[in-house]
Amino acid sequence: MTTLSKKIQLVDLVSLHERLKPEIDAEMEKVISTASFINGSVVGELECALSKYLGIRFAIGCANGTDALQIALMALGVGRGDEVITTPFTFAATVEAILLVGATPRYVDIDPRTFNLNADALADAITPKTKAIMPVHLYGQAAEIDRIARIACENGLDVIEDNAQSFGATYKGKKVGTFGRVSATSFFPAKNLGAFGDAGALFTDDEELFWKLKMIAQHGAKVRYSHELLGVNSRLDSIQAAVLKVKLNYLDEFNARRRAAADLYDKHLANANLQTPYRDPNGTHIFHQYTILLDEAGRRDELQKFLSARGIPTSVHYPMPLHLQKAFRDERYPKGSLPIAESVAERVLSLPMHTELDEEQIAFIAENVKEFVGRNDESRNSNLSRRA
Ligand SMILES: *Cc1c(COP(=O)(O)O)cnc(C)c1O
Repeated sequence: MTTLSKKIQLVDLVSLHERLKPEIDAEMEKVISTASFINGSVVGELECALSKYLGIRFAIGCANGTDALQIALMALGVGRGDEVITTPFTFAATVEAILLVGATPRYVDIDPRTFNLNADALADAITPKTKAIMPVHLYGQAAEIDRIARIACENGLDVIEDNAQSFGATYKGKKVGTFGRVSATSFFPAKNLGAFGDAGALFTDDEELFWKLKMIAQHGAKVRYSHELLGVNSRLDSIQAAVLKVKLNYLDEFNARRRAAADLYDKHLANANLQTPYRDPNGTHIFHQYTILLDEAGRRDELQKFLSARGIPTSVHYPMPLHLQKAFRDERYPKGSLPIAESVAERVLSLPMHTELDEEQIAFIAENVKEFVGRNDESRNSNLSRRA
């Protein structure tokens, strides 16, 4: 077995930050020396840079991506008795936000290629109670967001894009996060653009909505101690803004590095008995995750153990669709009701993906994946020939 010069990490923020340290330190030092930790001027500078980057009029920093989703729903007046259509195959935060404002999630099963909400099934899920659609751009790739936005428009619904995993990705030449009435993103450290702690942001082109979002994130007040709306405490702190301001300048480079790593994985895994990530030709995939799909349920956990024993960390995004989670259970969605999400959840495996992977590591990971897939195929074939 080959030995590698560098240990393989699932996500490698240490090496990345090593490279950016002088710049980040200087920006953080500015915040520390002025002690303007809350609502410092760097927050406004970052918001301005973020909105320019995305090509949208307004950006509002907030404490994290989960809050961003909840604040978006609050600002749009989504609450008790309302339904929000979303995907069951996402991180829990998407559905938590819907339930926390008192609304009910309605699920649409996923597209078997992109694992994003299937726009073909969307119209059938709309009821008189539907208020909004919350698509997620999963793993770094856009959902069919133009079609989703059109269906929403035809039915008088708002679109809230959960863009936590795809900040910087495009769809038909336009950045995702700019198609909906509002979009939410997360700067959790491991996201493609990550802070040194929790952070998030909201985006909109609508000035009236911008003020609502901004106020709700800061206790519902535009002027201090004058509370016009029911809000929350969800500010983006200045230290995080300072880190993000530096890292935003490198985001396109980070995403290009991820894409280059994905290209190499694709090349090495081209003949393997598994499905590599589908790339929708309408968009650019920024590979928040590089997630393979195995043919059969049951082999994924074995592959994960096999790779782990060889020093290759992996992760499962996500092992259980949200309609089957204890916390979100709803009798309208029993086991078997969203079959594609359920089947995919048993077969996906995310390989190491970050900006610091090198060619040797990717080749090593792919060789080991192929060895496992191949070995199982051989044993299956020999079982078949024994039976024959
Ligand atoms: C990370 C993530 C969130 C939540 O972001 P936090 O900043 O961790 O609160 C929401 N939705 C999706 C799809 C995510 O991946």
